[in-house]
Amino acid sequence: PVVTRFAPSPTGYLHIGGARTALFNWLYARRHGGKYLLRIEDTDRARSTEPAIDAIFDGLSWLGLDGDEPATFQFARSDRHAEVAHKLITAGHAYRCYMTQDELAAHRAKAQEERRPFRLLSPWRDADPANYPDAPYVVRIKAPRDGETVIDDLVQGQVTVRNEEIDDFVLLRSDGTPTYMLAVVVDDHDMGVTHVIRGDDHLNNAFRQLAIIHAMGAIEGWERPIYGHVPLIHGSDGAKLSKRHGAIGVDSYRDDLGILPEALFNYLLRLGWGHGDDEIIAREQAVEWFDMTDVGKSPSRFDLAKLQNLNGHYMRVADDDRLAALVGERLGASADRALLARAMPVLKVRAKDLNELVDGAAFLFAKRPLVFSEKAASLLTDEARERLATIHDRLAAEADWSAEPLEAVLKALAEEQGLGLGKLAQPLRAALTGQTTSPGIFDVLVLLGRDESLARIAAQAT
Ligand code: GLU
Repeated sequence: PVVTRFAPSPTGYLHIGGARTALFNWLYARRHGGKYLLRIEDTDRARSTEPAIDAIFDGLSWLGLDGDEPATFQFARSDRHAEVAHKLITAGHAYRCYMTQDELAAHRAKAQEERRPFRLLSPWRDADPANYPDAPYVVRIKAPRDGETVIDDLVQGQVTVRNEEIDDFVLLRSDGTPTYMLAVVVDDHDMGVTHVIRGDDHLNNAFRQLAIIHAMGAIEGWERPIYGHVPLIHGSDGAKLSKRHGAIGVDSYRDDLGILPEALFNYLLRLGWGHGDDEIIAREQAVEWFDMTDVGKSPSRFDLAKLQNLNGHYMRVADDDRLAALVGERLGASADRALLARAMPVLKVRAKDLNELVDGAAFLFAKRPLVFSEKAASLLTDEARERLATIHDRLAAEADWSAEPLEAVLKALAEEQGLGLGKLAQPLRAALTGQTTSPGIFDVLVLLGRDESLARIAAQAT
């Protein structure tokens, strides 16, 4: 059975790249009827923070990417990591290295002098444990020195590294704490992970990690996972994604940009993976179609306008009560949810994110006297104010306050005065909303209701 995992380091917010990695792991597991697990890699004690952990869980949950089981915390498993390191020593696949910082520096300097790449050759690699001194040491893997290691990566294809390029890297530091390289391998094994899907910045690590896996394979039959290293996300200009490109936390897409989770889900899915020309792919469809072999080999480019377009689509098809609740949260307690829900059908077709929806809904809750935009104010000329007086009286005389009869009233008036409907509608819109753009004028009248509409018109009429 397939077991995938998302293993973020909680040293910052959940960013777009991380969220996409989580998504691909989640999809791969769902697609193959497997399990998707979370592991918080909190071994960097200085940089791992509680708020970052919360932000990761919160962002994943919002995207519908909760783990199938409670998350594993890496730091809590340090003893187990050390245990594996000691097994490797006992079996002769790792060794205590007593080289001092000075000795290491000297080796490095010598390599530089001889203009060759530094490669650690520890004199302790083949030392007899009986001769181990009573001094601080690190534990190093006895990496294979000849042959090569091959990875059949789901995304990158076959990648080969000569083993002589893999150094005897550290497994346990001199204070006994495990390194990232060791912890990842032990945790993946113990969690039963079958597929490691992550950013391709980890491809080099995979070869080191395989050295540990092969050694534990020889001792206890550990098996290597299948790897899928996904190209990183770049900005629209092709440079590595940074804050300048909108590399903000997932929570900011929700809170600041007003993006819906299903839109971000769909957008992240399409970022590096495709199914023909399909742009709009909902969750269930994605589970059916997703495969790692369709993930492209080149970096994908982040495009905020595309995300906003998708968001516009998902807002148009979203449930009106749900949108009303989201907009209501932003407008505050005084905003009438029922009115918002009634307004949604005409508001949401004009907005591509929740902020625009909030702006669009503002006129519903505006207090008299209205505040006018500069453009709207300029429409309220003396002539327009006179027309508003007539409009007010004609509308007031209409018993049925719904769109069709109100439209008939205004049309009749326009005809009578030999004017286009726009000449009446423009100042009317300004008087009703304080703006020059709004939903259709008859929808506005109906949503505001008779009393409020007539009061707003009267306030501008002469
Ligand atoms: N914790 C690592 C990171 O956040 C991921 C390790 C892995 O996926 O193997 O980059």
